[in-house]
Amino acid sequence: MTEDTLPPLREVIARHGLDARKSLGQNFLLDLNLTRRIARGAGDLADVTVYEVGPGPGGLTRGLLMEGAAHVIAVELDRRAVAAQSDIAAAYPGRLTVIEGDALAMNERELMAGKTAVKVVANLPYNVGTALLVKWLTAEPWPSWFQSLTLMFQREVAERIVAEPRSKEYGRLSVLAQARATAKILFDVPRTAFVPPPKITSSVVHLVPKDWPADGPSIRSLERVTAAAFGQRRKMLRASLKSLGRDPLPLLAAAGLPETARAEEIDVAGFLRLAKALEA
Ligand code: SAM
Repeated sequence: MTEDTLPPLREVIARHGLDARKSLGQNFLLDLNLTRRIARGAGDLADVTVYEVGPGPGGLTRGLLMEGAAHVIAVELDRRAVAAQSDIAAAYPGRLTVIEGDALAMNERELMAGKTAVKVVANLPYNVGTALLVKWLTAEPWPSWFQSLTLMFQREVAERIVAEPRSKEYGRLSVLAQARATAKILFDVPRTAFVPPPKITSSVVHLVPKDWPADGPSIRSLERVTAAAFGQRRKMLRASLKSLGRDPLPLLAAAGLPETARAEEIDVAGFLRLAKALEA
C-alpha cells in the first residue's frame, strides 16, 4: 500500500486535542515516510503481530500497517491518544487492537499468548524507554515472547546499547543488551522530525535475541555483577566487587580475569563467566 486514506497527523492531533505532554514523553512523528522506514527496520511484517508501545496520534502505527503488519497490538497510557486510534482501527479492520494501560505494568507474555511471531516496534517515551528495554531483556524464560525489538532511543542511549569495551559509553546496559541480543543502530532521526522537537538526536536500534548459553548464569547474577562492577567503574574489580559480599579475588580467578582489571575492560563473555563464578 502506498498511502492510507486517513487524515494527516496534524489534523488528527488537532481533532483530538492531542497537545504533547512532556510528562508522558510525547514527541510525535508526523512524517509517514519516516515511520514507514522505521517499520521496515523490523524486517518482514507479514504474519507478524507487532507490539507497539505508545502509539500516540498513530504515525508509527499507520506506518506499520502500511508496511503490511498482520496485526498491531498497541498499549497507550494517554486516553486522548486511544481515542485517536479508533479511526485507524476502522480503516484497517481487524488489524489494530489498542489497549489503554501502562506498558511497564503489562504482562506481554500473557498478552501475546498464542501468537507465533511477535516483533516489538516503538517510538518510546524517553522517560521509560530504558526501563522497558531492561524489562524485555531480563524477561524469563528465555528465549522470550518477541522475535526482535526495533526501538527509538535518544542517540546517547543507543550508543550505550551498542558500546564496545574500553569506551566511555560501555556499561551495564551494553553488557545486558549484548549478552541477550545482537544489537545495531539502524539510523539516526534528527530532532526536527518530532513535534515538539526534543533537545537531542534520536536513533533507531534493532535488537535480535540470542540464545542463552545452556550452562550460562542466571540473568539476575549477570545484573548483580554488572551493577557492582560499573557502580564504581573507576575502581579495580578487586575493590568494586566487594559490594557483592564475597571475596572478589577467587571470583576473578574463577572467571579468568586479572585482579587489576576495571569494569570497562571486561567483555560480555568475561561478565558471563564472572556471574557464573558468583553462583558457584
Ligand atoms: N508513537 C507515536 C509517534 O511516534 O508519534 C508517539 C511516540 S511518543 C515519543 C511516546 C508515546 O508513549 C506517547 O503517546 C505517550 O502517551 C505514550 N506513553 C508514555 N508512557 C507510557 C507508558 N508507560 N505506557 C504506554 N504508553 C506510554
